[in-house]
Amino acid sequence: MDEDKKRSHNERMLRKKAVVDAGIERAQEERGIVILITGNGKGKTTSAFGTLYRALGYGHRAGVVQFIKGTQASGEITYLRQHAPLVDYHAMATGFTWNTQDWDQDKAAADEAWAHAAKMLQDDSLNLVVLDELTYMLKYNYLDTELVLQAIRARPPMQSVIVTGRAAKPELVELADTVSEIRDVKHAYKQGVRAQMGIDF
Ligand code: ATP
Ligand code: MG
Repeated sequence: MDEDKKRSHNERMLRKKAVVDAGIERAQEERGIVILITGNGKGKTTSAFGTLYRALGYGHRAGVVQFIKGTQASGEITYLRQHAPLVDYHAMATGFTWNTQDWDQDKAAADEAWAHAAKMLQDDSLNLVVLDELTYMLKYNYLDTELVLQAIRARPPMQSVIVTGRAAKPELVELADTVSEIRDVKHAYKQGVRAQMGIDF
């Protein structure tokens, strides 16, 4: 790189650093946040578990409720049970509509799973609560949206919450502090590749 280019690169980096430093200076508040990972692309649940493992690395305490997963096994939960038995974990008792086609049974399972979530949202010893696939409970009205939002709003101030799932209601987007929408650009499944252990579940 010639000297002129180097100089102009350095000047650009200096300007960038000033902007970044000012941003860091502005962000001084410390409180728990609500993170929503939504959209049709792959990576919502795995993102939530990535953050969970990040928190556990610092000895933080966490709770996890999985809605709609039912009894389906997954590598992340198996790992959690083996290596982090203190994490408060609960899975909804049924596989949800397209498996069960039974509204009353699904509603009861949703209520039961929510009771665990509601308790976690009142427990100030938990730094992080993961509510995996919660969006579907709201979209299909298995849970009352206002009741859920109210419980999230009333959580302990230092507790963070991660909600995942497609088709998040606008009220949930509004409430969340950080919202990422994962866009489906491509998925191997659509090219005929079977869901793989250790990659997809
Ligand atoms: P992951 O658990 O891999 O992070 P996810 O939570 O974003 O995925 P879900 O809607 O919960 O996605 O679906 C979970 C399963 O569906 C995973 O096996 C994932 O690979 C698969 N999947 C996710 N997105 C797509 C897609 N766009 N097309 C086909 N399969 C998908
Ligand atoms: Mg998921």
